[in-house]
Amino acid sequence: MQHPDKNAALVLFSGGQDSSITLAWALSRCARVETVGFDYGQRHDVELTARVTVREALERQFPAWAKKLGPDLVIDLGGLGAISETSLTRDLDISVGDDGLPTTFVPGRNLVFLTMAAALAYRRNLGVLVAGMCEADFSGYPDCRRDALDAQMRAISLGMDAEFSLETPLMQLSKAQSWLLAEDVGGRDLVDIIVEHSHTCYRGARAARHDWGYGCGACPACALRARGWKGYAESKSRQGTH
Ligand code: ZN
Repeated sequence: MQHPDKNAALVLFSGGQDSSITLAWALSRCARVETVGFDYGQRHDVELTARVTVREALERQFPAWAKKLGPDLVIDLGGLGAISETSLTRDLDISVGDDGLPTTFVPGRNLVFLTMAAALAYRRNLGVLVAGMCEADFSGYPDCRRDALDAQMRAISLGMDAEFSLETPLMQLSKAQSWLLAEDVGGRDLVDIIVEHSHTCYRGARAARHDWGYGCGACPACALRARGWKGYAESKSRQGTH
């Protein structure tokens, strides 16, 4: 059994709000942090650009984190996009499909991501996988659930004969609570970076700037992000008045 470095993390980093907060969380706790992203032909390749700008902004604003932040790798998973007829990779409307799942759902996506990430972590001697999956704002994605992820991690440990752990710091948090976690980890500077540079909108729109960041303002991802920001702002104003 291999025992990769328990103080070194590989963050599954998409450039979205959740994985950006997750990256900062890992940088605040681990001695060495690397990032991995996946390009599966998603329509919002603007998210892949956001990955670069978020990383650069963190390095600029947090010199201590910059020292810990190692290489980034984007893995081409075009095959996943090719077998998934979804609204992210094809020009379909974003809605709830006949199977009760959002049409943005790519079946088994997180399972594939985790396996690829573990293969990279093995090569790079990184013992902790860190991912931004979130059960509380469960959007119908079964592979965001902790029990599915735990089963996957068991298969990975057996199949690679290596002991990895999986950290999912946002798993039980609402979107409002995840903003509070960001503030906890990196103060208002971190919140500002994530608002400005992380990308969530399913349509890949960055023309309009809202108080919660850029996006079309209408798609389910924007609606969720806007609602989370509102909850965060309300909890801040409650703190301010009491
Ligand atoms: Zn949107």
